[in-house]
Amino acid sequence: MAEVRDYKLYIDGQWTDAASGETFETTNPSDGAVVGHVARGGKDDMRRGIEAARKAFDSGVWADMPQEERSRRMLKAWEALTAALPVLSQIEAEDAGHTLRMANLFSIALGVEHWRILAQLSSTMGEYEPVPWNDFPAVQWGIVRREPYGVTAAITPWNFPFILMMWKAAPALATGNSIVIKPATYTPMSTLEFARILQETDLFPPGVINVVPGAGAAAGEELASNPMVDKVAFTGSTEVGRRIMQLASSTVKKVTLELGGKSANILLDDADLDIAIAGSLWATFLHSGQICHSGTRLFVPASIHDEVIARLVETAEGLKIGSAMDFETDMGPLVHRSQYETVERYVQSGIEEGAKLVTGGERALVPGCDGGYFYKPTIFTDVRNDMKIAQEEIFGPVLSVIKYDTVEDAIAMANDSIYGLGGGVWSRDIPRALNVAKRIRTGTVWINDYHLLNAYAPFGGYKQSGVGRELGTWGLREYQQTKYIHVDQVPTKDQKFWLQILGL
Ligand code: NAD
Repeated sequence: MAEVRDYKLYIDGQWTDAASGETFETTNPSDGAVVGHVARGGKDDMRRGIEAARKAFDSGVWADMPQEERSRRMLKAWEALTAALPVLSQIEAEDAGHTLRMANLFSIALGVEHWRILAQLSSTMGEYEPVPWNDFPAVQWGIVRREPYGVTAAITPWNFPFILMMWKAAPALATGNSIVIKPATYTPMSTLEFARILQETDLFPPGVINVVPGAGAAAGEELASNPMVDKVAFTGSTEVGRRIMQLASSTVKKVTLELGGKSANILLDDADLDIAIAGSLWATFLHSGQICHSGTRLFVPASIHDEVIARLVETAEGLKIGSAMDFETDMGPLVHRSQYETVERYVQSGIEEGAKLVTGGERALVPGCDGGYFYKPTIFTDVRNDMKIAQEEIFGPVLSVIKYDTVEDAIAMANDSIYGLGGGVWSRDIPRALNVAKRIRTGTVWINDYHLLNAYAPFGGYKQSGVGRELGTWGLREYQQTKYIHVDQVPTKDQKFWLQILGL
């Protein structure tokens, strides 16, 4: 029986009840058991969180701290986060259905590592940049100073709550901003535990970090629209991303959006199939397909199509489905009943549109986990790129295989999508794979690999998969304003060129 954890809202360095006194339960996707009671933040609570962040930012207590000291504190906090890896992994398994194997090696471990890298990277970027000397119409010299935006908002989804929160909190804090985080109501606990761990370190002044869980329509809308917020960083669906952009426009806030995907994974005819078959399943079925950049459209050359399908099916059927808490489990549960129903609807639509279901397509039963939502790895062949299962994000373990004749056809179909987030190319010929990678309109392409996220590299979407980038120096810059400071180099008034214009 998992421990039931209680969390309040974390505002201004204090744990506090919601103004309404309301709480909500969060449940374990593996068995439906209640694993947490969490205060339900509403609009008023969110306003309190934003006010605390504003006060902390305006006081300069964090923003004016030398960069080296901010980075030093973050690296000290990294030690506390590292010590808490087991508990954070346990929480992500219980609350978000991450298999313990995935949490330990990937979602939690990487999140903590990315915090460290971003803290270090920010200390190497420098506060000032010189601007080239310019002498027309008069001598001009200046510098560019990078400054924090102020109050930043992080709105995160349920699928990878910890790491996606870290991708926002780490760059925001490293560059001197304060932050208000709103995690998704299905999976708020690892973000709240993060706040608890940092509170105990006493390294971050009150109000610099605030966590207010609550519904998107109340707490989320307040955060995206409140005039005291300077920047909104959102990860979630494209539909809600559009709404966030609209809300933020009321006070012309800076917005970065990481949205949905339907990524193309292209097998070339010279791919090493031993790696490419396993890699294509890894690209689709990690976390039961609940990943924005999953390679859910697999393009296979006609010449090797039947062999590839036979091997995909055989390998997929060997995956062990089970509780996220079981170290033997390869594929865990879907997060919630509603997600399970979405997957069922899409599978039905694939069948109705004429795709051929070659494996899966039904719920998996796991002994002892009756309340869990497990779905078998599902593969469709004979998929046309205009079918719903090839165009819409399913967010479940469903792979759509599309046969192609020429690489030109594969590239054209890969690009025929409103999304452009991830993608893969499999080939023994790297220059050939690079040529394909260059032509896919997407933010990340893995060659002979998938899902590996590099904290030094930018991550983000083309087209309706998003705006802006996270990670690396690109991600850090998204949290900085750019100020130009002109420094006059003309010593006497009569040398001022503007006298000739305004006769002063
Ligand atoms: P969602 O868009 O429903 O919700 C995301 C967050 O927004 C949640 O915290 C939710 O409470 C909040 N929200 C909802 N309505 C809101 C509103 N009107 N105003 C303000 N906030 C609101 O997404 P989800 O279902 O939690 O997550 C799945 C989606 O996230 C998928 O589409 C997936 O592709 C996307 N995603 C994208 C990335 C990426 O990096 N591009 C990563 C992970 C997930």
